[in-house]
Parts: sequence; C-alpha cells; structure tokens
Amino acid sequence: MSDNGGVDVLIVEDDDAIASSLATGLTSAGMSVRRVSNGADAVAAKVPDIYLLDVGLPDFDGFEVCRRIRQSHQTPIIMLTARNEEIDRVFGLEIGADDYVTKPFGLRELIARIRAVTRRHGSFETTTTEIVDIGGLHIDADARRILLNGELIDLTAKEFDLLAYLASQPGIVHRRNDIMEAVWDTNWYGPTKTLDAHVAAIRKKLGNAKWIEAIRSVGFRLEAPQ
Ligand code: CA
Repeated sequence: MSDNGGVDVLIVEDDDAIASSLATGLTSAGMSVRRVSNGADAVAAKVPDIYLLDVGLPDFDGFEVCRRIRQSHQTPIIMLTARNEEIDRVFGLEIGADDYVTKPFGLRELIARIRAVTRRHGSFETTTTEIVDIGGLHIDADARRILLNGELIDLTAKEFDLLAYLASQPGIVHRRNDIMEAVWDTNWYGPTKTLDAHVAAIRKKLGNAKWIEAIRSVGFRLEAPQ
C-alpha cells in the first residue's frame, strides 16, 4: 500500500497515450500510479502492489518481464495483451501472471480486476464473505444455499464447494491445481477429469455454460453471463 492507503500500481507500457490515460483513470480511482515504458525499467523498479504489464515492449517482451519478476517475488501481475489470442493469455498465466485483460479494455473492468487480484494476494481467508451476489446468482456459504434469480439450485456437496470457491473471487482465473487443492483437498498433478465433470454439471444446473469460463490448460473463472 502507498502512504495514502491506495494500491500502488506500476504501469509497464510503451504506448504513451495508453499509459497516460490509464494513469489518469487509476489515479482518479484512488490508486497511486508509477509508469515505466520498457522491460528493463520494470524489472529494476521499486516493487509495487501490482504490475500492469504490456506484452509488446521495446526491449524484451512482457512475458520475459513476468518471468524475471517471478524469479524474485510473487507480486500480482495483470498482463495487458494487444492480441486477442488464447495462446498469449494462456502463456501469460502459465508463466505466473495472475490475470490478463485484452486491449481495448474498459477502465471499470480493469479496476475490478486490480481490486480482485490484490485482494486475493492480501489475505484470502479474512476477505472471504459468507454471502456472494453475482448477477442473479446468490450464494450463501453459511447456509450452503444457492439461488439463481430467486430459484433454489440443487447442487451436490462438491458442486457447491466448487461454485462457492469460484465465487469467492468472481472474474478471477482459478488454476486447476488450486481448485483441486481447495475443493478436493488434494495436491493434484494428474488429469483433472473430475473437475471438468463438476463444471459441466454446474453449468447445466445454472442453465447457461457462460457462467463458468474455461481458460484452456489453466483453469476456470466465474462471471455473470453478458
Ligand atoms: Ca506496447
């Protein structure tokens, strides 16, 4: 946190127009913003609360910056990808980025992602709320009840645990291994067919597959269907 209590954001972006409009937007959202325009400066900079990391940089690319940052610490990183290619998104997450947004993105969406990622890195246990509302979905973890548009959804115990876990940080990509560990209480490095089967069952019960987005070979995230 910065002195004024806001999130300290380091923008790593060589496009001056994008970087300055981002800086203005995030500053007015109460964040404290620093800017660098290449990979070397990003790696050398004082560690922020979160990095917003462009993929296309003039010296070495955002993936390489991400790798170098991860060699020394786990500070949250959101990749800003210009290309809407799944390969970029998956690759960024595989090498340790926490999330990505695809350009062009809305400021509101980005701020929501920043808050979600920094919250997750803060302290998961104490920020988990017992009741979550997303779109028409109401999850009461204490009573173990899920309502969709006021209708009770009948889930098995594991389906409930899985949905509640994804809902604890909506909009965030949860990695397969993290899900297996949290929901099935196991370190799992093999195939995760059980997980896919449960996701499929929940999607069917919610009546719309878009509630749970699959990020291929990485994991899943819960979002209200648009
Ligand atoms: Ca760029």
